[in-house]
Amino acid sequence: MSPTRPRKIPQRTCVACRTVRAKRDLVRVVRLIDGTVVVDPTGKKSGRGGYLCRQRPCWEKALQHGALERALKQTIPAESRATLSTFAAGLPEALAEAPAPHP
Ligand SMILES: [Zn+2]
Repeated sequence: MSPTRPRKIPQRTCVACRTVRAKRDLVRVVRLIDGTVVVDPTGKKSGRGGYLCRQRPCWEKALQHGALERALKQTIPAESRATLSTFAAGLPEALAEAPAPHP
């Protein structure tokens, strides 16, 4: 709202590769109250969440090696796993490095 707000970019850690990135370069995955695990594009759903880079390898790694399950502290139901895999399939192979607007 204020034009003079500090230029501090919120950062999060990817649960698969542990890279710290700007929040907008990551996708939040959240465990809902019923145990369903969903992609949360707005980052506003409540529940235990984890972040993954906006690139397919991290999602595959997170799903295959249980990184996401560790982050969410629960087993991911098969149905949610399928949803996440489908989402991951639509992601690029690597995150395009955006040129830094400021040093
Ligand atoms: Zn990652």
